[in-house]
Amino acid sequence: MKIILLGPPGGGKGTQSKLLVSKFNIPQISTGDILRDHVRNKSELGIKANSYMQNGELVPDNLILNMIKFRLKEDDCKSGYILDGFPRTIPQAEGLDNILENLNQKLDKIVVLDVKDKDIIERMSGRRMHIESGRVYHIKFNPPKNEGLDDITNEKLTIRKDDQPETVKKRLMIYHETTKPLIEYYTSKNIVSSINGNKSIEDIHAEIITKIKNV
Ligand code: AMP
Repeated sequence: MKIILLGPPGGGKGTQSKLLVSKFNIPQISTGDILRDHVRNKSELGIKANSYMQNGELVPDNLILNMIKFRLKEDDCKSGYILDGFPRTIPQAEGLDNILENLNQKLDKIVVLDVKDKDIIERMSGRRMHIESGRVYHIKFNPPKNEGLDDITNEKLTIRKDDQPETVKKRLMIYHETTKPLIEYYTSKNIVSSINGNKSIEDIHAEIITKIKNV
């Protein structure tokens, strides 16, 4: 099963991807998570990507496509994957089409999580992250067992720099201008399902399962 979760930043793609990972035993490929790993390890890519990320801007397409090309060739991707936060631009979607053609693969479904900007702003301001693992919590909607601490390691949770309000507004603007046109791009391929992303985590998960069960 090869699916893309598409939606605004902070719209629940990461949370839903992780639920799908446990259910279907296929990897979540989050370009945001991979980039954050590179930044942490101060790799050449991490150094190039860091300033874009801190400013809430998109990392250039060629860097992202190169990263994805290698990731999709790894063994764990053979029986499928969930793309989370990629593609984010039309050139990335076209680049993905080329990569998939070379791998003789095709996408099964694009699930769009539809969430209004004002709800995104509320969600992001409450988002807390365990940086090492990528586990994401929300002070209201998905709180950790102990306030401010990761459930598994008990380490401190942090607010991502790019979740600050001004950066969030900029990321939403970029989403509307640059990423949303992908819905039309994939609609023409007849593989898009939209979901109201303003429901509980469990309800959204159940709806995603319904949409993808026949792929
Ligand atoms: P995310 O965790 O998916 O919200 O990504 C965090 C940041 O990483 C974004 O604001 C971008 O700066 C960068 N990023 C992640 N995925 C992509 C992508 N597909 N294209 C360009 N930049 C990306």
